[in-house]
Amino acid sequence: MSFPIHKSLPILVVVALLFSCKKEKEIVVQKPNIIYIMTDDHTTQGFGIYGSRLAGLNPTPNLDKLANEGMIFDNAFVNNSICVPSRAAIITGQRAQTNGVLDLEGNIPPEKQYLPKEMKKLGYQTAIVGKWHLEKEPAAFDYYQVLPSQGKYFDPEFRVQGEKPWPENMIQTKGHSSDIITDATLEYLKNKRDPNKPFFLMHHYKAPHDDFEYATRYEDYLADTFIPEPESLYKMGNHGSEAVRGKNDSLTRIMGSSVSHRNLIRNQAMNIYWNDSTIYKQYRNARDIKPEEYEKWKMDETERKYTSKVYQDYLKKYLRCVKGVDDNIKRLIDYLDEEGLLENTIIVYTGDQGFMLGEHDYIDKRWMYDESMRMPFFVRYPTKIKAGSRTDAIINNTDFAPTMIELAGGTTPDYMQGKSFKTILETGLEPADWQKATYHRYWMHLAHRHQNPAHFGIRTKDHKLIFYYGKYWVNTDDPNAEWNKESWGNDFANHTPPAWEFYDLKKDPKEMNNVYQDPEYQEVITNLKKQLVEMRQELNETDKNYPHIQKVIDEHWDD
Ligand code: CA
Repeated sequence: MSFPIHKSLPILVVVALLFSCKKEKEIVVQKPNIIYIMTDDHTTQGFGIYGSRLAGLNPTPNLDKLANEGMIFDNAFVNNSICVPSRAAIITGQRAQTNGVLDLEGNIPPEKQYLPKEMKKLGYQTAIVGKWHLEKEPAAFDYYQVLPSQGKYFDPEFRVQGEKPWPENMIQTKGHSSDIITDATLEYLKNKRDPNKPFFLMHHYKAPHDDFEYATRYEDYLADTFIPEPESLYKMGNHGSEAVRGKNDSLTRIMGSSVSHRNLIRNQAMNIYWNDSTIYKQYRNARDIKPEEYEKWKMDETERKYTSKVYQDYLKKYLRCVKGVDDNIKRLIDYLDEEGLLENTIIVYTGDQGFMLGEHDYIDKRWMYDESMRMPFFVRYPTKIKAGSRTDAIINNTDFAPTMIELAGGTTPDYMQGKSFKTILETGLEPADWQKATYHRYWMHLAHRHQNPAHFGIRTKDHKLIFYYGKYWVNTDDPNAEWNKESWGNDFANHTPPAWEFYDLKKDPKEMNNVYQDPEYQEVITNLKKQLVEMRQELNETDKNYPHIQKVIDEHWDD
């Protein structure tokens, strides 16, 4: 017997025995399509659904609607808060020392592009459109149209799977990258796929990566609106440690790129007002302030106004870029709806990590602080996932591939380190044996003039413990060490002071108070250190290959 088949619905015909009658019957099972949408640096503060100080601005009405039709994850975390390593973890389901990508210079060759390879085995046609950033040809996908490296916001070039071999297969486009990437995905859905097979599509925006270049139609968006400021932009409190502030705040003017004039090596202020002579004069004045006096100086009226202006401009650019993504998501969803594809398509949305938007006067990512480490993450699939559901289960970006593979009907391959959270999606319940913590490791000590010290740490639902070991992963003390000083943007073979930080996230969600020394928490801290050791072993993330780092760990473990 035969079943009616809607032309636009991908199907998989499975022949099974029906025991209700003795005759064999065909059962049509429609495998869901999967669209994995990822933006670059779209942090949870830049949404309505995460209830941040910016939520009242309604920055993402279309994404919020989509998220509210599925399940929102409040505790999704990246395992290294920087683009290339995050993308490598997502495509391989593996941690850094297993997939080999510790920093921005890593790459993933076709044979290690495991996620599309596994989806193909499950009968999917696979495609990636937009930002790829893993250097090698995304040849494991059936189709690709990807930006070279970071790509451009305006009139971007793409490398397209087709007649010419990689990397000569470049095409030139005209317009804003968010619009063009959406156009390219729509074109793929309309004309470049086989409508009789389910598809797995990775749709990746460049936006809102800095420098937040937005399409000109957003020029007036939020122009007259005051953007709420975080208290920590002006007040350091007991945030941080000697690792990020130095003894008596002696390192505050060189650690962690800032909104204000605080960081003299890299700050947003100097980025955008360099040509304004009045502002430049203010910068000259700020430059002479001693590190331990800067926080007070920052509250001086002129300096405070200045920091506020930089922040307002910075955030408006960011949110205009986000708006361009949100509007384009609507175009994509509307198309799926019109074509009758929406109900049978699993839609996943995330960003490749979080981002500091002036919290603790930091910009960029890289930190293990929540704004940087937390990823926005939600899944819409009405057939299996209840609308309006939300979970605080801890997941990390190595769990994404296993989950999508299992949603597609497969099982997690043994070589993947992540775990499928399909059950959580389908039941809304966190299994009793589900992971209670996640591990973060940032390797690129003081790189790119953002000046973040290298560190690792553990985060549970309630607590966070960070150890800054303050060294580059190549041993720069070794005269024969080969390392690319030029690429890192500084001459910092320098080591910075090691230190621990501990935050009680229930009492102090904004991480304003490092209570590592507080006797009340010693038992919790001891326990977390034990878990850290076990986790590093289990995840193949120890420092056995980096004895110069292991030495610091050994010397300061019990500090
Ligand atoms: Ca990124």
